[in-house]
Amino acid sequence: MFDNLSDKLDKAFHILKGHGKITEVNVAETLKEVRRALLDADVNFKIAKDFTTKVKEKAIGQNVLTTLQPGQLLVKLVKDELTELMGGDVAGVNLSGNPTVILMSGLQGSGKTTFSGKLANYLQTKKGKKPLLVACDIYRPAAIQQLYVVGDSIAVEVYSEPENKNPVEIAQNAIKHAKANGFNVVIVDTAGRLAVDEAMMTEISNVHKAIQPHETLFVVDSMTGQDAVNTAKAFNDRLNFDGVILTKLDGDTRGGAAISIKSVVNKPIKFVGTGEKMEAIDVFYPDRMAERILG
Ligand code: GDP
Repeated sequence: MFDNLSDKLDKAFHILKGHGKITEVNVAETLKEVRRALLDADVNFKIAKDFTTKVKEKAIGQNVLTTLQPGQLLVKLVKDELTELMGGDVAGVNLSGNPTVILMSGLQGSGKTTFSGKLANYLQTKKGKKPLLVACDIYRPAAIQQLYVVGDSIAVEVYSEPENKNPVEIAQNAIKHAKANGFNVVIVDTAGRLAVDEAMMTEISNVHKAIQPHETLFVVDSMTGQDAVNTAKAFNDRLNFDGVILTKLDGDTRGGAAISIKSVVNKPIKFVGTGEKMEAIDVFYPDRMAERILG
């Protein structure tokens, strides 16, 4: 995960290691390399620039050069800033409803259906909840089928109305079904498109308005870099979602999406997907992720 970025940051800090006494020039050179590493990881230019400016200001404020181990302190400042950029504190899921309604949004192929299953499994096994999965994709029968396969594999019931072409009604009926049958979490999987388009946005906005979810989660493929950030912005403008799910972090992702998304939409990353299996879900801890990136 983020191997390339980690290597490059490691190299950036090497600049400081070869010197007996560190100068302002060495620090500037290191931060320039840090910025280059972030850009190579597909972090947006302005975010990368602001990042190094902030670290530099802190380094000056804390008189880094006069400390005993300036190199280590600089690594710590970078780590702290990276943690901050990715969200600071860990963000939980609001499970206060009865039932709690969770709406999944995102493009087709982002990993929505897989993540819906992972979340249901997580809530059932780790939080003692009784979740219901809802298939609201009215265009692709295969998508409904896929949710049944997922539901079967984790022993979670799936609600669908294959003949109904109104996703708002399906979602509302599913919530009624949940109330009548003792389900305390309802996870609504919606239809995605290959790219952001008005029809998809109108449809999911309508579902969102009608069911007033406790949590609206935006699922995005971390491999798509800056595109992921742009898509997040488009969905957030319409849905004002509560959190981001970054999938496919097990792939050869450069890390740009994980690093930038929070500062663009100002919403936390709540979970990450790290594989195709139902267990491949992790709560997102910004500090641990920063630790991992910086080695
Ligand atoms: P949807 O169209 O948004 O519902 O996306 P799917 O859930 O069908 O996922 C699309 C593809 O990505 C499937 O082949 C999934 O198995 C795969 N996938 C989903 N999440 C992950 C993940 O975290 N890691 C990996 N490696 N593959 C994933």
